[in-house]
Amino acid sequence: MINQRLFDHYGIDTTKDLKIANICPRPYDTVLIDKRGSCYACECHSWLPQSIGNLQLKSLNEIIGSNMHQHLQGSVTDGTYRFCNEHQCSYIRSDRVLHVQRKGIQHLRLAIDDSCNLRCPSCRKNMIFHKQGPSFNLGVKLADKINDWLHGFDHPLQVHIGSDGDPFASHVYRHFMKNTPVKGNIKYSILTNGLMFKDFHYQVPHIIDNLQELGVSIDGASQKTYEKLRLGGKWEKVNENLEHMAELKIKRGFRFILHFVVQKDNYHEMEKIIDMGEQYGADRVWLNRIQDWGTMDDFNSQDIWQLEDFKRHLNSVISRIHQRNDRFIECPTLISEGARRKNKN
Ligand code: SF4
Ligand code: SF4
Repeated sequence: MINQRLFDHYGIDTTKDLKIANICPRPYDTVLIDKRGSCYACECHSWLPQSIGNLQLKSLNEIIGSNMHQHLQGSVTDGTYRFCNEHQCSYIRSDRVLHVQRKGIQHLRLAIDDSCNLRCPSCRKNMIFHKQGPSFNLGVKLADKINDWLHGFDHPLQVHIGSDGDPFASHVYRHFMKNTPVKGNIKYSILTNGLMFKDFHYQVPHIIDNLQELGVSIDGASQKTYEKLRLGGKWEKVNENLEHMAELKIKRGFRFILHFVVQKDNYHEMEKIIDMGEQYGADRVWLNRIQDWGTMDDFNSQDIWQLEDFKRHLNSVISRIHQRNDRFIECPTLISEGARRKNKN
């Protein structure tokens, strides 16, 4: 049964009809698992907040293809997208909903531990780190259940580690990575703050051997901005790690991506992070609009869209996109929000 309260919480009108012709692949090819074991048929639980089952109570085989899973799939196939959060989903917001290619699970996104060695103000108010106790025990239990399922799964699959915390700082993700099966059909994608990569990656060689994508979230392109926004991080250390990743990327061939969440304190460094991406041989630099996760007391102060200085920097980024013409720079949520604000005025 649909949990209407959840949709009300996110302001999602479940009677809408967005009349989208493309059929979004995510409800068919993606399962996201959160730290309570709830599974979602989308990249982000706040985009499609209805759970399709809980891994504490059922197996992944029972959850995938369940009645609720099929119900959510139907809501994109019929074009209404009535359960999707049009205020947050970056595909809908940027008018770039993808079209289903092949049905069947191809992405498993793990958000089973929010432990991190940093406490970025855009993400959390306090340090979160589970090394023992109920949250840690549950995380390990979920990790073991997922690994058991991976042992029996024979189709090509990408496991994405690190939607909520840092894969190398988290003891739950370390446990997962050390015990995950070595199988040719399973590839990995990692999103990290990058600070512990150099020291830890050698402990999980089978993950690195099968790494398809390494993303580093770095919201500053200077020491001052970086150390203000990535609270607890050290500029020198992150650069040392980026250098190591750049060398490893050449040897292993994984995709290397920098992520930059654009906000009041760093928009003036958007061009600089693109320079850093070029300097470290990244494949892509993603500039994304900041979202309100309820952790900032003054989120409204992040409204930079009317600032002439912000518009000047964004125009400069857009010029770089046109000059390169190769999708090295991606910023659809910035461009669509800019257009939305312009139409509103
Ligand atoms: S359209 Fe967006 S919210 Fe809906 S299923 Fe696809 S990715 Fe998720
Ligand atoms: S590094 Fe990422 S997971 Fe860790 S606190 Fe910052 S934003 Fe959150």
